[in-house]
Amino acid sequence: MKHLVEKLYYRYKGKLLSKLKSQPHDSFGGKELNKVKNGLSFECSVMDPAAQNLIQNPVDWCNDKISRVLNEMYPDGNIPMNINSVSVMIYPFDGVGYTVNGKTPGSKTVHISSKYIASVQAEKKMSELDGVTCHELVHAFQYDGDHTAPHGFIEGLADFYRIKVGLAAKHWNPTALGASWDAGYEKTGYFLLWLDLTFPGSVNKLNLHLKNHRWYEGDPFKTITGYNVDQLFQWYKKS
Ligand SMILES: [Zn+2]
Repeated sequence: MKHLVEKLYYRYKGKLLSKLKSQPHDSFGGKELNKVKNGLSFECSVMDPAAQNLIQNPVDWCNDKISRVLNEMYPDGNIPMNINSVSVMIYPFDGVGYTVNGKTPGSKTVHISSKYIASVQAEKKMSELDGVTCHELVHAFQYDGDHTAPHGFIEGLADFYRIKVGLAAKHWNPTALGASWDAGYEKTGYFLLWLDLTFPGSVNKLNLHLKNHRWYEGDPFKTITGYNVDQLFQWYKKS
C-alpha cells in the first residue's frame, strides 16, 4: 500500500493561516513534529488508495478543514494553546472516526475510517469525508470542563460545528427532534444551531465556558443565556 504523508507547519494569526513549510516524506509516525512557537502543526496521512483518489492534496485538504473548524470555534483567534499538533490518519477500520490524545503532550490524533467512506454513495463520499473529519477535528479542539461535559453535549457540539462549516450530512433531518436536548450528534447539533441563532455567539461561549468550569458547577446554558437548558429545549421544540 502506498503511503502518502505530508507535513505542514503553520502559525495561526487571527483568521490567517500562513504556510511556513511543506515537506512530503514516505513514512508515518517516525518523525516527531517540530513545534512552532504559539502555533500548531499538523500532518495528514492517507493510507488507502481509494481515499487518496478523493484527496488529491492532503496538506491543502487538511489545512482547509482545520482552518474552517478553528475559524468557527475561535473566531477571535484564541485557539487552545494546550494543543500543539494534530495528526489526521485515514485508513480502513470498522467504525466511522474517533479522536484521541497523541503520544506527545498537547498532540491529538484523528482517525478516519476509509472503510466507512467506501460504504457511502459515490456522490456523497467527498462531503461525508469532509464532514466526518470536521466533526473529529472539533473533538480535537473543544473544551470539555475537565472531562465533565455530558457525552450528548460533546457529540452535539461536534455536529453543530460540522453544520456551521457547511458540511451537514445529506441524510440529516434538521427538524427531527431528539427526546431530550442531550440526545447527541446532529439532534443536539440542530438544537445548538437554534440556540446560536436565538442567542448569537452563545455556543462559542458555551465551549469557552468549559475551559475553566466544570459542567456541574452550574447550568452553563443559564450562565450564558439566562435560561436553563430545559426551558431552552421546550422553547426550541415549539419553534
Ligand atoms: Zn464525535
